[in-house]
Amino acid sequence: MRRGKTPSGHQAVTPHPSPFTPHGTLYIVATPIGNLEDITFRAVRILKEVDLIAAEDTRHSRKLLSHFGISRPLTSYFDHNKNLKGSYILEKLAAGESVALISDAGTPCISDPGYQLVRDAVAAGIPVVPIPGPSAAVTALSASGLPTDRFAFEGFLPNRQGKRRERLAELKSERRVLIFYESPNRLLSTLADILELCGDREAVVARELTKVYEEFVRGRVSEVMEKFQERTVKGEVAILLAPAAAPEKGDMPSVADLLQKHMLSGKLSLKDAVRQVALETGQPRSEVYNEALKLKGKVGPGSGDREAGTGDREPGT
Ligand code: SAM
Repeated sequence: MRRGKTPSGHQAVTPHPSPFTPHGTLYIVATPIGNLEDITFRAVRILKEVDLIAAEDTRHSRKLLSHFGISRPLTSYFDHNKNLKGSYILEKLAAGESVALISDAGTPCISDPGYQLVRDAVAAGIPVVPIPGPSAAVTALSASGLPTDRFAFEGFLPNRQGKRRERLAELKSERRVLIFYESPNRLLSTLADILELCGDREAVVARELTKVYEEFVRGRVSEVMEKFQERTVKGEVAILLAPAAAPEKGDMPSVADLLQKHMLSGKLSLKDAVRQVALETGQPRSEVYNEALKLKGKVGPGSGDREAGTGDREPGT
């Protein structure tokens, strides 16, 4: 592959590992999340040069590729064939062929298939080269108006409401902006859970980024909900949540204090007290459980032990 400098002194070519490596290179190529103009020159060049393109959905990607006049051999790589196809792709790479991985939109491996392939390629000593481009999370954050210095990407919350609420409870004290991906039909119920578990803080819903109907809905969680309640939510959405406020000194009772309160009340079993305190504090259940076991001896037999004899198992085991 050619090397050279642009007039500005930037490197104009893809870094290539030692020419002596017998392996081909695996390129992780980002593609647009809506607007086709967002593909990079480098992405187009790499996609035109590789021996094989592995795409999450070949029918979907064929449209993108033909738009840019790219006609390299195409194969599928998605969640349900990733073991079989992963081996096939690794064989090609080991034989010296170069492969580009693309997903339906945005950056592969970011809430999209690819992680396992990259891991296996790295383990096999195959060079992995990222070709950067759009990702909905960073695109949404950049124009959200929320602080951008620290953020945490949470991807999709669990589908099941119980698990989703548990995750939100763990996150409620997070001091960084949180970014979630969500489907439009779950947007309102997820916002309702966020409101209940994380409070009515500032939030932004970024919808249809880079597309014709792109919009940012900003406000408190309750205000954002109101705006979406009036209509059917369509298209792709990402939710951004402002950081939790710093707790005032002395505001937060400790895990031990809360456990003691619930265990002494005699109303909750140990397991329920642990679940309740994990929800209230956002601490992982396993940690709260360990604290509860330490307290159990001190608080006395019977307290918070309505299930004694049934064997309190560590939550989630
Ligand atoms: N790999 C992609 C990336 O780099 O952003 C994400 C793929 S994930 C399967 C799809 C989710 O990303 C959507 O459900 C939505 O939450 C978010 N997303 C993708 N495109 C978007 C867009 N144009 N506007 C808003 N959110 C988008």
